Amino acid sequence: MAGVLRIVLGDQCSAGLSALRDLDPAQDVVLLSEVMGECTYVKHHPKKIVLVLSAMRHFARALEERGVRVDYIRLDDPENTGSLRGEMLRAVARHRPNAVVATETGEYRLTEDMRHWHEASGVETDIRDDDRFLCRIQEFRAWARDRGAFRMEFFYRDMRRRHGLLMDGDGPAGGKWNYDPENRKPLPRSMAPPPVPRFEPDDITRDVMALVARMFPDHFGAVDGFALPVTHHDAAAALKDFVTTRLPLFGDWQDTMKTGESTMYHALVSTSLNTGLLSPLEVCQAAEAAWRAGLAPLNAVEGFVRQILGWREFVRGVYWLKMPEYASLNSLGAQRPLPGFYWNGETQMNCLHQAIADTRRNAYAHHIQRLMITGNFALLAGLDPTEVDEWYLIVFADAYEWVEMPNVRGMALHADGGIMGSKPYASSGAYINRMSDYCKKCHYDVKIAVGEKACPFNALYWDFIARHSERFGQNPRMAMPVRTLSKMDPARVTAIRERAAGFLAAMDLGGAV
Ligand SMILES: Cc1cc2nc3c(=O)[nH]c(=O)nc-3n(C[C@H](O)[C@H](O)[C@H](O)COP(=O)(O)OP(=O)(O)OC[C@H]3O[C@@H](n4cnc5c(N)ncnc54)[C@H](O)[C@@H]3O)c2cc1C
Ligand code: SF4
Repeated sequence: MAGVLRIVLGDQCSAGLSALRDLDPAQDVVLLSEVMGECTYVKHHPKKIVLVLSAMRHFARALEERGVRVDYIRLDDPENTGSLRGEMLRAVARHRPNAVVATETGEYRLTEDMRHWHEASGVETDIRDDDRFLCRIQEFRAWARDRGAFRMEFFYRDMRRRHGLLMDGDGPAGGKWNYDPENRKPLPRSMAPPPVPRFEPDDITRDVMALVARMFPDHFGAVDGFALPVTHHDAAAALKDFVTTRLPLFGDWQDTMKTGESTMYHALVSTSLNTGLLSPLEVCQAAEAAWRAGLAPLNAVEGFVRQILGWREFVRGVYWLKMPEYASLNSLGAQRPLPGFYWNGETQMNCLHQAIADTRRNAYAHHIQRLMITGNFALLAGLDPTEVDEWYLIVFADAYEWVEMPNVRGMALHADGGIMGSKPYASSGAYINRMSDYCKKCHYDVKIAVGEKACPFNALYWDFIARHSERFGQNPRMAMPVRTLSKMDPARVTAIRERAAGFLAAMDLGGAV
């Protein structure tokens, strides 16, 4: 073969991928490999494996329909080496290309490996930027260079200006950059979010589901009920449905949680964005167009665009700026092992029980379940960040290290010492009670902090503030709870801390908590 071997990874199912640019269908071959190493380096939720393999198979078919030569390696191919490097080397031996072209990966581990592909194969290798993101890694480095502390809000404003999103001339649409003060209302008495569209599996997806069910029976969760989009066409239909039915109320209810409603008014687009089925720009533009057409209010649209243009790009920038050190940061010295109920959901704390059940069923939980239920508990209980990181990487269909790790280690656990956020997202049961209906059906009483029936989040919250009071006393955004604690009756503080210690001891012993 005189052409180029072009490598496409499972989260790179995008027609405009840099590795496919300048493709010559007459000469080149595109390699897609399903490899065991990527399915098992952590035991991913089976629905995530189905999503990625099915998206790859559909993408390969779409390329073939355009006349492109595709070399597709299936997971159960007996010759499959089980690694991306091994499959690249086999393909080089089969096709004898002039060059190998790939797009940089989303994980430090794989990117490091790719750097050595040239030596391993003896063929010129071109690793291209992943320009599906709106901020290149070099651009983020330049933005971060002169800043002591990075704040997402300022990054986001620059991104709005640079991409002309939600702008009126040189200023922000509507006159304000951020409409959060109008968002995040508590859960009303009755609420019925619209149903989320389901994409019933076709023959390709059904084959993948059978394969995954057979090969990964011991992973957390099951393939049953898989209904996520696996093609650009279906992902675009899901986006359209969100924009017309849920986006108008996204701002108001984005922090609320309700039993049995895991999506609420969220978009459910992260799986499509992270596998490359949708581009961040098309998602933001669809939201902006809805506002300009008068179909969704500005507070909702700005809040939504900020998640993608702001947070998503910001966490990626932080990941690449701070790796590999980031993966071992543990600024609060948290060391407790992950309790078993994170896997089986068997806890009397109804909020955790519901969030973990949603996660196991759907490989999805919305942002506030991730941050203020499973994340908040891990923060308050001092769970080991490496174990928590791994749990999040396993359980969600949208989990890739570049986005999972800064969210978990940084935003949820504050283990990065404040790179991701100036204060920890710690809260007692009161927040969960305001934003959800979970407390109504809980074994524990959210109104009390002491005694066997007291909501564990209450005692753990004050215990957390007490454990770190010296550190947080220096932080203006945490000074208030530290002051409140210092004014509490010392006997009450002792009782609260004893309740926290008793609860944690029972949890560590695997007792029913
Ligand atoms: C502890 C924790 C772990 C997380 N792990 C992941 C992960 O592994 N993969 C992942 O894609 N997101 C992760 N997030 C971010 C966010 O929770 C998910 O992107 C979101 O819940 C996906 O659902 P959605 O598409 O309905 O999002 P929506 O709430 O509708 O938001 C729209 C989009 O904005 C982007 N977004 C929103 N918040 C963030 C954020 N904090 N960081 C990055 N992108 C964001 C996502 O692409 C999302 O699809 C995590 C958040 C926390 C607190
Ligand atoms: S009472 Fe406490 S443990 Fe129970 S659901 Fe509410 S916050 Fe969670």
